[in-house]
Amino acid sequence: MAMETPREREIAAEDSIKVVCRFRPLNDSEEKAGSKFIVKFPAGGDENCISIGGKVYLFDKVFKPNATQDKVYNEAAKSIVTDVLAGYNGTIFAYGQTSSGKTHTMEGVIGDPNKQGIIPRIVNDIFNHIYGMEENLEFHIKVSYFEIYMDKIRDLLDVSKVNLSVHEDKNRVPFVKGATERFVSSPEEVFEVIEEGKSNRHIAVTNMNEHSSRSHSVFLINVKQENLENQKKLSGKLYLVDLAGSEKVSKTGAEGTVLDEAKNINKSLSALGNVISALADGNKTHIPYRDSKLTRILQESLGGNARTTIIICCSPASFNESETKSTLDFGKRAKTIKNVVCVNEELTAEEWKRRYEREKEKAARYKGKVDKLEAELSRWRQGETVKPEEQVSLVEGPDVTTPINVPVEGKLDDSPMPATPGGGLMIGSLSNEERQKLEEERERLYQQLDDKDEEINQQSQYVEKLKEQMEEQEELIASARRDYEQLQQEMNRIQQENESAKEEVKEVLQALEELAVNYDQKSQEVELKNKEQESMAEELLAKQVALNNTASELQQLRDMSAHQRKRIAEMLANFLKDLGEIGVAIGGESNENLKIAPPESNGKLEEEFTVARLFISKMKSEVKNLVQRCQGLESFQVDCNKKVSEYEKDLAESRLLISQHEARMQTLTESMKEADARKRALEEDVDALREECAKLKAAEQVQAVTNKEKAEEKEAATKMRVALEEQMDQLRDAHQKQVAALRDELSEKQELISELKDLNQKFTLAHQQMQADYERLKQEEANKSVKLQELVLLNERREQARKDLKGLEDTVAKELQTLHNLRKLFVQDLQTRIKKTISAEDNEDDGGSLAQKQKISFLENNLDQLTKVHKQLVRDNADLRCELPKLEKRLRATMERIKALETALRDAKEGAMRDRKRYQYEVDRIKEAVRQKNLARRGPSAQIAKPIRAGQHHLSNVNAIRTGNRGKK
Ligand code: ADP
Ligand code: MG
Repeated sequence: MAMETPREREIAAEDSIKVVCRFRPLNDSEEKAGSKFIVKFPAGGDENCISIGGKVYLFDKVFKPNATQDKVYNEAAKSIVTDVLAGYNGTIFAYGQTSSGKTHTMEGVIGDPNKQGIIPRIVNDIFNHIYGMEENLEFHIKVSYFEIYMDKIRDLLDVSKVNLSVHEDKNRVPFVKGATERFVSSPEEVFEVIEEGKSNRHIAVTNMNEHSSRSHSVFLINVKQENLENQKKLSGKLYLVDLAGSEKVSKTGAEGTVLDEAKNINKSLSALGNVISALADGNKTHIPYRDSKLTRILQESLGGNARTTIIICCSPASFNESETKSTLDFGKRAKTIKNVVCVNEELTAEEWKRRYEREKEKAARYKGKVDKLEAELSRWRQGETVKPEEQVSLVEGPDVTTPINVPVEGKLDDSPMPATPGGGLMIGSLSNEERQKLEEERERLYQQLDDKDEEINQQSQYVEKLKEQMEEQEELIASARRDYEQLQQEMNRIQQENESAKEEVKEVLQALEELAVNYDQKSQEVELKNKEQESMAEELLAKQVALNNTASELQQLRDMSAHQRKRIAEMLANFLKDLGEIGVAIGGESNENLKIAPPESNGKLEEEFTVARLFISKMKSEVKNLVQRCQGLESFQVDCNKKVSEYEKDLAESRLLISQHEARMQTLTESMKEADARKRALEEDVDALREECAKLKAAEQVQAVTNKEKAEEKEAATKMRVALEEQMDQLRDAHQKQVAALRDELSEKQELISELKDLNQKFTLAHQQMQADYERLKQEEANKSVKLQELVLLNERREQARKDLKGLEDTVAKELQTLHNLRKLFVQDLQTRIKKTISAEDNEDDGGSLAQKQKISFLENNLDQLTKVHKQLVRDNADLRCELPKLEKRLRATMERIKALETALRDAKEGAMRDRKRYQYEVDRIKEAVRQKNLARRGPSAQIAKPIRAGQHHLSNVNAIRTGNRGKK
């Protein structure tokens, strides 16, 4: 880009706002709803007019729906890049209803070469331009990104700045005070900043679509350049604004919107409309920039020092016709606005000096002219007529030059001056002093206004911070409360458990106490008893001594008893011998082992006695066995008898059968004989007939020899012969038949006979077998009866032996009785002896023995009772001892439970303590964090400027980075 000459730059040029119009294609929902494409683009090379509903609109450029992003950029926005780099201010903003394509146009899809919108293309272009410029130029580029929602400016690069204020700089140009500025040195950095801003915007908002359609987003690129050779500095600000949807809020169907919000949302856009209308009017002296933050920020862009392009975005659908029309009307109005643009140049001292000289010169010139004019005026006033050639030429005059950065006051006027009748005319009649004063007053008031703004901003930031803190605190409190409640519940639970455990313990303790009391009582009783027992034991000891004495006497008695025993043994021996004999009688050989060795003379009486008993019992079992066997044999004999009778019956039957068969055989042989006789008779008949036949043949031969006369005879003979032959034949036949029948019968009979013979044989065999069986059984029976006889005998003998044994037992019992009597006698003797000794001991008083007896009986009674009581006590003790482990177990369990509960309680307490500590710590931490944040926010921080040197690619520019403080405006 060729730099303009300084002279050109100094000139402020009037420049109308550029308005381009872009139509997007019909979208899906419009097509579905059957909306029509209602916009017409009249043919023509200029592409700058459209007609809708018969009404024609003219703009600087009109983009049809198929216009590419590239085309839009090249034709609507590209020139702004060179302007900004040349030190002009620039503004592009998109206006239109929601979803008309504003964001698509301004932003598009960043990073997509085809779909990216104006902002990314501008950013890329700015850097590309810089890389292509002279090397002695140094650039500082910084960007800001904020949004305006409900007339509050929210910094998108620092979420804590939620209500920024608009101030004026020394040149009375409004700017957003305190907005974060990021120095950038490459397009990528810019895109990162945009991404960050967008993500911040998303975080703060619940419904992004709704939000973005109601907020204005402003992206500001600030380019400063310095010529390192002549220290000339240029600066240009580029505002890229994506406005809120221009439709009425009601149309977007924002039901949840409160009235206040709706008013505020509309406010900034209606203020924009008002400003534009006022500017378009041309006659209005007051432009209401101060009605909204948006219009304040765009003050320079609308009718001020900026090259401004408005892109109005429209939908071509019939459904949106009215909105589209109002958008087009807005564009039409905006198009008439004129801006006054000039280069923002910071002049060097030299430059200022030169300019001062020039101005001084100009002033002198004016002064001369004024003097001349005054002279002329006085002449006129004196009634002179000044000749035209003497009149001061009014045509001549120096060209209007406006110094850079000095805005045309009147143009931007929205001063709070009192609206006096006559307005601007009044100013002329005011004296210079008054004007000065008013000027100062206004300045002061603006200052105040800005200060108030600042204050409001600070307050709102503070409020926001406090809100955040409050929220955090509330959250903390809620969590703490929750914790507290939980702990309380836990505590309650534990206390309940504790209570129940305590009760249990109490019960157990009571039981234990009772037990202890019982135990005490028992132990006392036991002690008492023990004492009594001791006394008894002493007495017993005394008795023992007496007993010892008697024991010696007992010895003597024992000797006696030994003698007795000997006698008994002898008796026993006799008895055993008898028994042995009985055993021999009963057991025979089988009971050999029962034989007992002859009693060993004397000694072991009882042993022998037991042996005898054993012997007897064995004999008993033997006898029982025998009886059983006898019974078994008897039953067996009965069985056998039954069997024998059965067999006999069978035999008789068989015999009968045999006799029957024999009779039948007899008849059969008779019939056979008869048949034979008949056969023989028949044979004889045959023989007789044969003989007759032979006779007749001989007679015939005799006859044949006779003559013919005898022919008749012959004939008769033949006839007779024939008849005879016939008769013979008949007879023969009958005879033969009879013979055959007889033969058949014969053979049958023969067969029958043989069968019967077989049968007879079988029966005879069976008969023989049965006979043999019968013999055998008879034999057996005989044997058995013999055996039975023997057994009966044996039994009888056994019975006899048993009787003998009983007698023996009786005698033994008698013997034992006598023994017992003897023993009794002995005991009595012993007792009398003991009594004697006792009486000998207490022979002092006679009544004493009675008393002693009584005492003894009393003591005995006592002892009995004591033993009873002792037994009871022992039993009780055992019971208690049984009970004790159970109780102990229970006690232990309760103890354990208590311990567990105690530890649980302790744990809970510790947990609570820990929670409290944590809570305290958290609170401290948050406080600290808040403090830090406050510090950070308040304290001025150094910012690194990233200067960009022209003519170098940013990648190779790393070494050339300079640092500098971020200058506060
Ligand atoms: P706004 O920002 O005005 O609410 P958007 O830019 O978000 O509208 O556009 C709404 C939809 O229409 C988006 O999906 C976008 O991609 C599409 N769109 C807008 N303009 C065009 C166009 N010129 N060509 C194709 N699609 C478009
Ligand atoms: Mg949008």
